[in-house]
Amino acid sequence: MARKYLIETYGCQMNVHDSERMAGLLEQAGFEATDTDDDADLVVINTCSVRERAEEKLYTRLGDIKGLASRTGRAPMVAVTGCVAQQEGGQILAKSKLVDIVLGTQRVKMLPVLVAQATTADEPLVDIATPYDEPTFPLGLTRREDPVKGYVTIIEGCNDYCTYCVVPYTRGHERMRARAEIVREVEELAASGRREIQLLGQIVNHYQAPDDPACDFAGLLAAVHDVPGIERIRFASPHPRHCSDRFIETLQRLPKVCRHLHLPVQSGSSRILKAMRRRHTREDYLALVDKLRAALPGIQLSTDMIVGFPGETVQDFDATLTLTEAVRFHSMFSFKYSPRPNTLAARRLADDVTEEEKTRRIMVLQARQKAIQAELHAAAMGRTVDVLVDTSSRRRPWELAGRTSGNTVVNFPGDAAWLGRFVPVTIERTGAFGVWGQPAGPAQERPC
Ligand code: SF4
Repeated sequence: MARKYLIETYGCQMNVHDSERMAGLLEQAGFEATDTDDDADLVVINTCSVRERAEEKLYTRLGDIKGLASRTGRAPMVAVTGCVAQQEGGQILAKSKLVDIVLGTQRVKMLPVLVAQATTADEPLVDIATPYDEPTFPLGLTRREDPVKGYVTIIEGCNDYCTYCVVPYTRGHERMRARAEIVREVEELAASGRREIQLLGQIVNHYQAPDDPACDFAGLLAAVHDVPGIERIRFASPHPRHCSDRFIETLQRLPKVCRHLHLPVQSGSSRILKAMRRRHTREDYLALVDKLRAALPGIQLSTDMIVGFPGETVQDFDATLTLTEAVRFHSMFSFKYSPRPNTLAARRLADDVTEEEKTRRIMVLQARQKAIQAELHAAAMGRTVDVLVDTSSRRRPWELAGRTSGNTVVNFPGDAAWLGRFVPVTIERTGAFGVWGQPAGPAQERPC
């Protein structure tokens, strides 16, 4: 009987995609997927350390597995991967006796080898080496859950060292994947019937192909745009300081590139942005938003925001609120600052905004953002929008959901067979986190 694996993923899309890759590697090694601890022979916990709370989840989860082991006498092999594994390495073993393998972010491909070794090893195994390599990955191996959309990594790591950010320490320095390999993976996704791709990297618009000196991110977008069968292209995340005129003109020229940009700003105060080492000011960001909206009317913007960064005054926070009001983002990921290990902010700046004040600020910001989203969605009432269907409810298969090119979530009744197809939907009801409507025409293979 095949051994079973369970992978639990915390954190960003990059982690989700790493889990898809690990699933493919384990299946190649003869494992089968399961979705419960009860019959898992191997539990992989793919961790995130971008926020303190995400990191805490690892130890909570290990506690659950320990409970299971003492109740049933079954103890699955446990592998900890991802950013916490990279950051803490062998220290994880001192905190939990349950862990058999600690595997760093640049060693994903070694998972089956370590699993094989761990079955006979006397001691837990730790591999957090950071070799310099191009982030290649064998084609055809990734086990993708989503039948409609596929992630494609184009860059691993980051060299920017924003002062709050742990990514350069956990994912290493920036490494670009070859253009030819990216295009082949996109072709493979198209051949498997997927309609949408999402290019992933810490700063996607810093891409420079290692195998083609003439190909930057704009060139890569044009190359994947040419792949027949791919109808939508998204990417995350661009950095404001790399949004060149050439980049904006490329978005204008390529209709398959979605009319949505996730453009992290982090704060509305230039003083705080400088302390964060973001290398753009509030004014730069607002000017860029104007330029984008002039070039791409109707483009929807989302962002990341941090409140309570060291030294953030009430005036700085007000600047975050006024920037939020000025831009009117369609969505926002907002977080309370927490010092992350090794980062410049943790080493050099006092975490001087009280927890209570951080909570107050995030509640004010989130309430304002929610109201803006509700207003933007209400303005779309009565419009007919083109939706790529990506979800059908398991229990009620006639309840469908999908996204517009601008990334608005649209819920509507239909047929589960429409998954992966485009449907025009007239919006009849709206809320802060999505809209509801009725199909206004037949489902079709290509955008309406
Ligand atoms: S650009 Fe800044 S926030 Fe983004 S991954 Fe790099 S260091 Fe982190």
